[in-house]
Amino acid sequence: MANSSTKLIILFFTTIITFSISPTSNAPDLDLRLRTDPDAIRSASSDYGNLVKRSPHAVLYPSSENDVVELVRLSNECPTPFGIAARGHGHSVRGQAAAHGGVVVDMASLGRNGSRIRVSWDEALGYYADVGGEQLWIDVLRAGLEHGLAPVSWTDYLYLTVGGTLSNAGISGQSSFYGPQISNVLQLDVITGNGYLVSCSEGMNSELFLAVLGGLGQFGIITRARIVLHKAPTRAKWVRLIYDDFSMFTSDQEHLAMNGNGPNYLEGSIITDKSPPNNWRSTSFYSPSHQTKIQFLLKANGGILYSLELVKYYTATNTNIHKEVELMIKDLRFVPGFSFKKDVPLLDFLNRVGSLEGDDKEEEAHPWLNLFLPKSQIMDFHAAVILNLIHTQNQTSGPILFYPLNRQKWDDRTSAVVPEDEDIFYTLGLLHSTKRSESHVFENLNKQILEVCQRKGIRIKQYLPHYEYKEDWVQHYGSKWTTFQERKAKYDPRMILSPGQRIFTPVM
Ligand code: FAD
Repeated sequence: MANSSTKLIILFFTTIITFSISPTSNAPDLDLRLRTDPDAIRSASSDYGNLVKRSPHAVLYPSSENDVVELVRLSNECPTPFGIAARGHGHSVRGQAAAHGGVVVDMASLGRNGSRIRVSWDEALGYYADVGGEQLWIDVLRAGLEHGLAPVSWTDYLYLTVGGTLSNAGISGQSSFYGPQISNVLQLDVITGNGYLVSCSEGMNSELFLAVLGGLGQFGIITRARIVLHKAPTRAKWVRLIYDDFSMFTSDQEHLAMNGNGPNYLEGSIITDKSPPNNWRSTSFYSPSHQTKIQFLLKANGGILYSLELVKYYTATNTNIHKEVELMIKDLRFVPGFSFKKDVPLLDFLNRVGSLEGDDKEEEAHPWLNLFLPKSQIMDFHAAVILNLIHTQNQTSGPILFYPLNRQKWDDRTSAVVPEDEDIFYTLGLLHSTKRSESHVFENLNKQILEVCQRKGIRIKQYLPHYEYKEDWVQHYGSKWTTFQERKAKYDPRMILSPGQRIFTPVM
């Protein structure tokens, strides 16, 4: 006897076959691009986090946007629609790009027939690149540099897709000065949840444009993004300064973040025994002797230090750059003798993490926690979370990022969520790496952090959010929830898209 799941598959594929041979179909070969074999299903069932497995019934390898449009329409026409998730590079950590029992769209397939990156100039817009949503940022960078151009806002890691990061926000050390990646997009092509391919921008279908930016894939699948480009500098002066005092570290960060003539990039991190100065984010910044020196200071300071990281870009014609950087750090209050500098080509700096592709070992898990927190509460957070939980438990295994962001560079009308009411907020990234069998230890630490914040009234927002219950999503969106819901009803009324985010779709 067929169980309900088998019946669903039969209904689902009967529908697909029926519709795909229909003479009205624009993509009569859709069924040929759908795969249900174990390799296809396995590749779409887990992600970088390696914490959850959620298997789709099929994976679509689209040869064009039409295939995706057709798939979304098919789902809409089913009595019970099936979930559809665009999978960019699968670098989510908690199944956000999964479609349990539905169809995952392998976005990379859209780029298989040649590059979908076109660099242009327009009198009104300046330089920009039209880029397929499936493209990796590393390829956008390389294509721009061929013309002496580059985007201004980045992520630390460049092997992420344009559609994937624009669905979140896309942050890195440039965001304080240029805004997140979602603040540097001029136009999008989007396949909405009701199956329409729509171009949108600030001036055209603006509600869809704003909904999709930071929209966690809930309103449409981005098939093209028009990204702002600027003239690219050629080199980067890259500096790390070590602090033994949290309050000096953060006030120096804030001073630099709000300084228009300061660096082009500003980040920071927390150094502990389990989160050493050199890590996968830039393996070779410190020489072995520098590392030994920092380790001594770490011991002397009770096992915790803070590292401020800044970069000033320049071109070879700027002979003054050395002085500019010295001036910038002259009054900062790092530990004397603990400033470290490098001078590298722009590409080497932006691509400092390189590719981690060989590293996603089957047994390795990444129970990451990324938070935004209001500036006014960072001292409380430091005492309750950084010192009392992270440092004392000493369980962290991986980089701990901590740096400020400037809220004025974020457009409040997009779907992205940041702490309200304060001009500066901080981001914490706990980028744990562990064996799968030990991931519960870090999950437990993450849970404790969230509980402590709630108990102490620290108004955090999760970045790359993950919640179990609808009430938590409602709280996460706060004053944006009503708009978020209304936009969902308008652009994806049958709740088909990105079910792995589990905002509107029950947990399965
Ligand atoms: P996926 O994981 O494939 O998808 C993520 C979500 O977006 C899913 O819901 C999916 O359905 C949806 N989606 C994917 N493509 C599209 C599309 N074209 N249209 C609409 N929705 C889509 N983030 C930062 O901001 N800054 C960083 O510095 C940073 N560094 C990272 C480093 C590493 C090693 C990793 C693993 C992640 C990092 N991230 C960072 C997080 C990253 O931005 C997100 O996980 C992002 O979603 C990954 O992109 P992806 O292409 O792999 O998306």
